[in-house]
Amino acid sequence: MGDRYALIGNPVAHSQSPRIHAEFARATSQPLEYGLIEAPLDGFAAAVEHFRAAGGKGLNVTLPFKQEAFALCRHVSERARVAQAVNTLVLETGSGDNTDGVGLARDLAQNLKVEFTTVLLLGAGGAAQGVVGALLEAGAERVVIANRTVSKASALAARFPGASACAYDALPGEAFDLVINATSAGLSDQAPPLPPGLLRSGMLAYDMVYGRETPFLAAAKRAGARTCDGLGMLVEQAAESFFLWRGVRPQTRPVLEKLRGA
Ligand code: NAP
Repeated sequence: MGDRYALIGNPVAHSQSPRIHAEFARATSQPLEYGLIEAPLDGFAAAVEHFRAAGGKGLNVTLPFKQEAFALCRHVSERARVAQAVNTLVLETGSGDNTDGVGLARDLAQNLKVEFTTVLLLGAGGAAQGVVGALLEAGAERVVIANRTVSKASALAARFPGASACAYDALPGEAFDLVINATSAGLSDQAPPLPPGLLRSGMLAYDMVYGRETPFLAAAKRAGARTCDGLGMLVEQAAESFFLWRGVRPQTRPVLEKLRGA
């Protein structure tokens, strides 16, 4: 039996992470196993401690626990501190990191080869928190954050020079290079309420949800935009977590191609 890792969240049942880490482990000959832990909404810290006490080495954290994971860590990386959200726990050291931002940036630059200066980011939850800094570092001159609960978008934007917040019904009519849906609306077949005409050709519409055509992606496609789901980000953030745990950087392209082909 290899070292034990897992994804912890609620829900987790349909995650592709175990498959991705199994592919990385096989390709790099690392002896590890990677499972799923569905923690009760009021039992995150207890579930982490139970896994650690049983010998677990590391965890990926997904919704809705990324902010709670941040609060739980003894040490956090600079990018997790900036995000105030943690998606990777190294249990031996009690440290936390956030690989969502670098995962998205690598997917955009290396897999999709997209260039952008103006970005509209939809959502202000754990996923959105993790990517604002990385988008600005990757060349965005302006990141507008829109969220159903506007106060959360305002609080997030206030932490980054270059970011601003907006209500959905007050979005500017400008043509963004990139619109990223970092809401969980697609999981329940809903879309953020964008004004008509905002999605258009010449932009990339990116949904962090993966494995389905969300109403957001369907609307973007109808408007003539280039579209992409979040599978590339998932594989890239997983590779960075794998590197943090094992000190070995797996290749992502073969795994992404395999998952896309499946
Ligand atoms: P979260 O912390 O629970 O935040 C959810 C966000 O979605 C909030 O901003 C919420 O708005 C918004 N929202 C939910 N339902 C909505 C609706 N019907 N209309 C408009 N906005 C809605 O979740 P998260 O951790 O940020 O994750 C968000 C999504 O990204 C999830 O679907 C997750 O699976 C995905 N994700 C993918 C990757 C990847 O690697 N591909 C990585 C991270 C996350 P309020 O604040 O108003 O409630």
